[in-house]
Amino acid sequence: MKSLAALCLLLLSAWARGADYSGPLFDAHLHYNEDAYEGPHPLDDVLARMQRNGVRAIVANSRPNDGTKALADAAVQTRAAGVTVVPFIRLYRNRADYGSWFRDESIYSMVEQEYARGTAAGPYRGIGEFHLYDSANASGPVARKLMQFAEQKRLAVLAHVDDVAIDLLMAHAPGARLIWAHTGIGGPSAARVQALMERYPWLMGELSYRPGLSCTDDRGRTQLCPDWRALMLKFPDRFLIGSDTWINQRWLYYDGLMQDYRRWLGELPPQVARRIAWDNGAMLFQLVSP
Ligand SMILES: [Zn+2]
Repeated sequence: MKSLAALCLLLLSAWARGADYSGPLFDAHLHYNEDAYEGPHPLDDVLARMQRNGVRAIVANSRPNDGTKALADAAVQTRAAGVTVVPFIRLYRNRADYGSWFRDESIYSMVEQEYARGTAAGPYRGIGEFHLYDSANASGPVARKLMQFAEQKRLAVLAHVDDVAIDLLMAHAPGARLIWAHTGIGGPSAARVQALMERYPWLMGELSYRPGLSCTDDRGRTQLCPDWRALMLKFPDRFLIGSDTWINQRWLYYDGLMQDYRRWLGELPPQVARRIAWDNGAMLFQLVSP
């Protein structure tokens, strides 16, 4: 009886919220790192997680690039799971590269070589994710060369940086397609994000870990905060969702992460939800819709 009452409550609250988004998802921030594939998450495991969550395409960027290659090589399995792999070149061979890539010319050479090599799933489509914890390093020579390389080769760039670094990176290559990882993990205001979106028509925002997205109303229910809802309605073609599986724990929570996206996407008008969930990524990389 108790569980029946709980079920009724759950159904009621779902009904009160409106239906979750149920279409395809494009995971625009996925890592398949060494700790995952050499540990508890072999290829079949991660593909099963994507498949059961309706994730139909992924931006794959992995430390080292072998994880992305493993996904790109597995044409039969990825096709069976209904997942299209969009490979990105990661700048990191190991943990140490996180903090020094921007002054390491060998990283730039590695990116050039990787790009020339390509993958079994086709050419690389982007560079990143890279991190800049001090935005001043966005002005350095390696960052400049990478941005210009990306612009020249029409590669997207996935950058985990603050809002100051967005201006600095875009100054190197105004035509580059920059995907702002987390749309600023430090949580710059929606107004600041809007100003950057207006200034840079090629800037896109990926929403994993984004602080300030969900607000709690007086009845204790969480929903999209009004300023973010307004921003998404204003720029429906500029946002993407992502899992950011940077540690194995994120793979364990993959179902929950995707369910959470489906829940708040369901609060948006259906066409807007569909764009953020799938269309924006599919358009960016010219994918056929499932
Ligand atoms: Zn990441």
